[in-house]
Amino acid sequence: MAEIRFEKANNFKEKPDVSKIGFGTHFTDYMFEMDYNEKEGWHDPRIVPFRNLEMSPANTTIHYGQAIFDGLKAYKHGDKPVIFRAKDHLNRINVSAKILDIPEVPFELMNDGLKKLIAVEKDWIPTGKGQSLYIRPFIFADDPYLGVRVSKTYKFLIILSPVAAYYAHGFAPVKIMVEDQYVRAVRGGLGAAKTPANYAASLHAGLVAHDKGYDQVLWLDGVERKYIEEVGSMNILFKINGEVITPSPKLQNSILDGITHRTVMEIAKDWGVPAVERKISIDEVIQAYENGTLEEVFGSGTAAVISPVGSLIYKGKEYIINGGKVGEFSQKMYDYIEGIHIGEIPDKFGYIEAAE
Ligand SMILES: *Cc1c(COP(=O)(O)O)cnc(C)c1O
Repeated sequence: MAEIRFEKANNFKEKPDVSKIGFGTHFTDYMFEMDYNEKEGWHDPRIVPFRNLEMSPANTTIHYGQAIFDGLKAYKHGDKPVIFRAKDHLNRINVSAKILDIPEVPFELMNDGLKKLIAVEKDWIPTGKGQSLYIRPFIFADDPYLGVRVSKTYKFLIILSPVAAYYAHGFAPVKIMVEDQYVRAVRGGLGAAKTPANYAASLHAGLVAHDKGYDQVLWLDGVERKYIEEVGSMNILFKINGEVITPSPKLQNSILDGITHRTVMEIAKDWGVPAVERKISIDEVIQAYENGTLEEVFGSGTAAVISPVGSLIYKGKEYIINGGKVGEFSQKMYDYIEGIHIGEIPDKFGYIEAAE
């Protein structure tokens, strides 16, 4: 166990009614923090009161965006705080770190810090249906320097936010616009990292889609605008003629290797449902729609878990999926993963990790 310093808070917040708050609006009493410099490496891991940070106006992250993050969730099994696939999320931080030239973080240091923080804040884990404690680890460059180069100093933090079920009004299908004008990431770019830059690149297209009445954008590959990539905060999966088909994070390298995506593929295979990762073009999806074999479309991501897609719009034409209703497979998958989250379904995959 890493030695983690603890600085006690003097004031404690009142806990909100989680069913009445939006995503990411409230934060707990404590956060985890540590620093990096070339001499000491990652050092001084500590749990401190949640508070504002002080930084130079020349902070390199503000100017050049050398930063990464992740997102995972904690639940309670009885009295015990647990985290879903913590190991996989922490390992992904180092995958993102490598892409952004951020010094890798020793796994034990992250893991001990995360588990200790969750243990300290376990009373903040909400237990209502679909609720959880959202965990946001992040790293950013901290040099006070306006020159363009890889930073020499960094900060690693973990903050926590209680969140309600993603779907305030039940598990509702979303409308998605297939983006054929803007691109999010290209092969050889930052698409495989969880980094703010990819979000910055997606905001405008998201706004345009919203104005047209769509919830989110489905990105196509940046070169040919032909192959399906992902939704930008979710991976995307298609059920065509009994088979789950989804773009491959490993082959495509411009999309995020989502942990919910891995979970869905592992469970589908366990159920005996054929599930493959391969390139899939928007034309293939439209063709499946036309010949009646496109059964379901859904997104996967930590925030929403499963997000059924009720309609796709592509080149001005709307394609209603499964009559605009939640598909049977999407519903079953959502219920199963949620069941593992809250401990109602046995975790035969070893996804659940105790935090204390
Ligand atoms: C976080 C994220 C996802 C979903 O990943 P999970 O590990 O399932 O939460 C998908 N795409 C992008 C770009 C993301 O940032």
